[in-house]
Amino acid sequence: MAAFENFKQQVNAAAKLAGLTEKEQTALEKPDRVLRADLEVVLDSGSKATFPAYRIQFNNARGPYKGGIRFHPEADEDEVSALAAMMMVKCAVVGIPFGGAKGGVTVDPKKLSVRERQALARAYVQAFSDHLGPDQDIPAPDVYTNPSVMAHMLDEYEIITGKSQPAMITGKPIALGGSLGRDTATADGAIAVLEALLEDERVDVAGLTAAVQGAGNAGAQAARRLAHLGTKVVALSDSSGTLQDESGLDVAALLEGKAQKKEFSAVGKVDAVDAVLSANADLFVPAALEEQLRIDTVDALRARYVLEIANGPTTPEADALLATRGVTVVPDVLANAGGVAVSYFEWVQGRTGDYWKKEVVEARLSEIMRKAYREVADFARERTVTLRAAAYALALKRVAEAMRERGRL
Ligand code: NAD
Repeated sequence: MAAFENFKQQVNAAAKLAGLTEKEQTALEKPDRVLRADLEVVLDSGSKATFPAYRIQFNNARGPYKGGIRFHPEADEDEVSALAAMMMVKCAVVGIPFGGAKGGVTVDPKKLSVRERQALARAYVQAFSDHLGPDQDIPAPDVYTNPSVMAHMLDEYEIITGKSQPAMITGKPIALGGSLGRDTATADGAIAVLEALLEDERVDVAGLTAAVQGAGNAGAQAARRLAHLGTKVVALSDSSGTLQDESGLDVAALLEGKAQKKEFSAVGKVDAVDAVLSANADLFVPAALEEQLRIDTVDALRARYVLEIANGPTTPEADALLATRGVTVVPDVLANAGGVAVSYFEWVQGRTGDYWKKEVVEARLSEIMRKAYREVADFARERTVTLRAAAYALALKRVAEAMRERGRL
């Protein structure tokens, strides 16, 4: 299903719960502004190439637009719109004062040299600078963009505007005003939510077994934190295969091996890439790609809990099946919101010039995530709905309220 259609289905399912009228629902499904440009880059060969680019500003009723920029061959308007809408929901779920946006460039960045990638980052800001800024729209990294790309975008923006404006972008290198703790924020936020959930259920995190799909920025840190808490990580995968050990993997050693040899298949004996889905584990943590739990794969899943660190890892059909099977799914818009929460901290630090210690970032992140979990879990219990339905309903209520206060509804 097209990504944006999927978002509309979620809204439709939550609209009644949120008490929205049909008119209000329609307003929440429409982006405020769709910006498009063709970015021209002079390649190292001397020839020119053009790449389609988007910035979709979905909603700014609760605060400035906020969302990452991805460089990906399959990035298109539909996908970027769905991700922008999801940012609106995510910021509202965790109660940070931002709206939702997302950006994308249709490009295979692996085919670009370092210089060409920098030129593309600068071209993006040249195309959209009128609409970006600390009080307007604040980008961040996403798939195949990183702190270095953010540094080039910030530099270009400051050249154009002639001012120092560190709060115009987040996910920057620390040297340019990035926040301590941003690199581990997504996984740390997810683990804070998991701990709160397990406390509610009186389940000891140290007594659980876990399977983690993906060992990139987010998955690796999640596996590390779980192992640190005493959870037995019995399966861990990357795009080369799945490492498994029923008595528990040595997560730190395997990640160290991956850092040196790039792939798990070069570190140890791996099973099929999808074997992680059917691992005998209480907890499944998708932290790689979208649509991993589908109608054709979900039967293999043996977990009681799913912690969605990836965006959109579960299709609506699989989600419904999991609900009937009594599997608790912590939805992406709650589970992976730690990244945008610390982006908010970075924005605050950039605006005030007061930079926080790592312990302060970690403590405030945990507080925000636990509070968000509490609100979502209480709503879900009161209305007997899933955590996903509750998270969407709460978020839509908050955005609608802000729109009403502004006289936009
Ligand atoms: P990343 O590119 O650093 O890592 C992705 C990992 O997935 C890599 O280890 C890759 O080998 C692995 N992978 C790819 N295909 C796979 C497959 N078929 N099976 C198993 N593993 C596979 O990305 P990331 O930043 O860790 O993000 C992962 C997911 O989390 C994405 O969906 C992203 O949107 C989401 N997310 C990340 C953040 C963040 O702050 N990093 C925030 C919110 C959401």
